[in-house]
Amino acid sequence: MEKGCIFCEILRGERPAVFLYQGDSVVVFKDIHPHAPVHLLIVPRRHIRSVNDLTEQDGDLIAEMILRAREMARESLISESGYKLLFNVERGGGQIIFHLHLHLLGGW
Ligand code: AMP
Ligand code: ZN
Repeated sequence: MEKGCIFCEILRGERPAVFLYQGDSVVVFKDIHPHAPVHLLIVPRRHIRSVNDLTEQDGDLIAEMILRAREMARESLISESGYKLLFNVERGGGQIIFHLHLHLLGGW
């Protein structure tokens, strides 16, 4: 848990969020400023700054995030219409929350 990290605060229950899934290592909640009719964030419980900080040991976690995103797309009924999965990496890549998260966007 990282001090001053908004997503760690959400994970600790100190800040509200609309959760759609809460697993042992990954959670999913709604993006507070949606850029699409469906805009969810797939977030590991462990504080990892960005994709740059992933290691070889994080393979299972990365797979779980992507498979969870696919499952959330299915539950949100956007599997067939299609969706985007997006990692913004560091400031130049548009990242503003420095706790790893995968965007699921769709439903247009
Ligand atoms: P990124 O630009 O990839 O770092 O994306 C961060 C995302 O987190 C943005 O789409 C924000 O709208 C979203 N966000 C920021 N604060 C919150 C919050 N308290 N609850 C849910 N989503 C948030
Ligand atoms: Zn964090």
